[in-house]
Order: sequence, then C-alpha cells, then structure tokens
Amino acid sequence: MNLKDIKNDWIKEFSQPMMIAGPCSAESEAQMLETARRIRETHANVPIFRAGIWKPRTKPNGFEGVGVIGLNWLKKVKEEYGFKTATEVANAHHVDAALEADVDILWIGARSTVNPFTVQEIAEALKGTSKTVLVKNPVNPDLALWIGALERLLGQNINNLGVIHRGFSTYQKTKYRNNPNWQIALDFKSEFPDIPMLIDPSHICGNRTGLAAITQEALNVGYQGAIIETHSNPDEAWSDAAQQITPEVLAELILNLKVRNSGLAGFEGEMGRHRTLISDIDFQLIELLSQRMKISEKIGTLKKENDIAIFQPERWRTITEYAVQKATETGMSRDFIEKIFKAIHEESIDVQNGIMINR
Ligand code: PEP
Ligand code: MN
Repeated sequence: MNLKDIKNDWIKEFSQPMMIAGPCSAESEAQMLETARRIRETHANVPIFRAGIWKPRTKPNGFEGVGVIGLNWLKKVKEEYGFKTATEVANAHHVDAALEADVDILWIGARSTVNPFTVQEIAEALKGTSKTVLVKNPVNPDLALWIGALERLLGQNINNLGVIHRGFSTYQKTKYRNNPNWQIALDFKSEFPDIPMLIDPSHICGNRTGLAAITQEALNVGYQGAIIETHSNPDEAWSDAAQQITPEVLAELILNLKVRNSGLAGFEGEMGRHRTLISDIDFQLIELLSQRMKISEKIGTLKKENDIAIFQPERWRTITEYAVQKATETGMSRDFIEKIFKAIHEESIDVQNGIMINR
C-alpha cells in the first residue's frame, strides 16, 4: 500500500481542531491528575492527554523522565477523566511498555525521526498495531526524511498515521525555539491531503506568548489540530517550564481560535494560507535585516577605530551589482531592488554614523 492510499478515519472520531494537551513530562501522579482535572473543569474540548514518560534531553544529567511508573498515571488519567492518552516512544522497549499500558496514541519525537534505524526499530515493534502513530518532523527541514518515517511505519502495516510540525532547529537564535516552516507543511499537505497534520506550538515557540498566534496560523493553512504542553504549575515544571501553560490559559487559547474553512478550494482558506505564508516571509525578512544591521554596527566600530570613512563608494557599487544581478536572475525588476537596497544602505550608514558620533 502507498501512503497516498491510506484512509485516515481515526481523526474523524474527534471534532476539529483536535486538541492534545498535558505536561511536557509526567512528574508525579498528583501533577498528572491535577492537570487532567483542571483541563476537564474548564470544559475545553480536549479529548487527548499527553505526557512524556521518557524524555530526550539535549544534555546529560537533566531530568530524563519518570519511566514506566508514569504509564500507570496515564492510565488513571484515562479512567478518572475519560481522556485518550498519548506519549512519545523512542525505542522498542518504550513501544512494548506503552502498548502494554494501552496508551492510545504514540508519537515519534523529532530527535528520533532523524534516525532511520530508530524509526525502523519503532516501526517493527509496533508492527500491525491499530493504535494511532504520529510522527513529528525531524529536527532538520527534510521533507523526504519525514515522509520516509511514515513509509517505514506503513511498511509494518501501521495505517492510522498523522504528523506533527514542531519546527526546525537552527544555529542562529531567532524568536522561535524551533522555526516553523509553513511551506513544508503545504508541500506535505498537497502530496498527502488525507494524512492529518497537527501543530506543536509549544516546541516551536519555546515560550508562552507566541502559542496562540502559531496555533491560529496553523489552522489558517489547514492543520487539523494541536498538541500544547499544559501543566498544573508551569513555572515549577521539571522540563520545558518556559513554554508550558496552565489548563485555564489553554482553555482561553482554544476559545479564541478561529476555525477557518478547511476546504482547499475555499476562498478564505486559500487567502488565509497565502497570507500566512506572506507573513512568515515578512518575519524572516525582518529577522535578516536586523542581523544585517547588527553586522553594520560592528563594521561601524571597526571604521571608527581605524579612522576610515563610512561611505565606501567601491563597496556600494559591489553591493548594487550583486543585488541587481540576483534580482534579474529571479525575475524581479532592477528598479525595485535598487530602491530597496538604497534604503537598506542608507539605514546602515545612519547606524554607522551613530557609532562614529556616539549617538
Ligand atoms: C515533546 O513533545 O515533549 C518533545 C520532546 O518534543 P520534540 O520531539 O518535538 O523535541
Ligand atoms: Mn517538551
């Protein structure tokens, strides 16, 4: 069977957007049950409860998860509050334990999706399962690797599949912990329109403030749901404290979401998607311009220390030349690119002037 042919009826069981919420990590029975109870008390539509049992951490000696004991707490959450449950599995032992504990949804984390050996091991351990398996994007923006992971699962007769976009890792620090890339999501969606896509705004943002905007943008481009880290006491969380929110804040976020027309042909849906892509590019432009200006400041300091004039006509000529050439290659007008670079260069000179005269 081909990925394009699989039926994804599993998501139809849930109203959309389908929300998964719960702590980054299971820490104690009390923390799990309190988080679950408070989510229920808000009456927000959250059918699935998440918690990390085994935690892949960047550095050693951090909290690496409570291990199998946490699976009992997930069971209790299911029994007492009627949630379906979800956790991350990263090797065959995790799979065996999670299946034994009857966890409903298993996901493969970003740090596992990058490794075909790991994905293959997980897929074989899951062979033939009717559980839903969600695959987070790999840490690097590689669509083929992401799709490859789904194919490995399908190869083991695992047919209830979905994907989660949790952003891509970058060396350069940006306002995101992991940069979202809507274009990759759209490319995925146009190739596999039936495979549900969820957004993980928590690991994209790395903070609490951006969660609502990212979730909304994802719905605008046709995502069907979100997985949001929610903790009874976020400030005291043992992992990812900065990005977790309380059940009450989660409920507010869900209440404010606008569900867009999801039909690909729908005007609003189409407009929303294009606008989100444009905003995304605008943010990147601004980020790049800001990086450029910071380098200009450094150059300004060097010029000051070495008594060199700010305006170097030779350099300006080089910049205009490469900008115009690149613009022509990409089909843009020479006039337009000259205008833009003039403005950038003027601002850069202004910034350097500020340094010369200690503004
Ligand atoms: C998580 O969901 O807690 C997690 C570890 O995420 P990721 O695999 O996206 O890093
Ligand atoms: Mn986390």
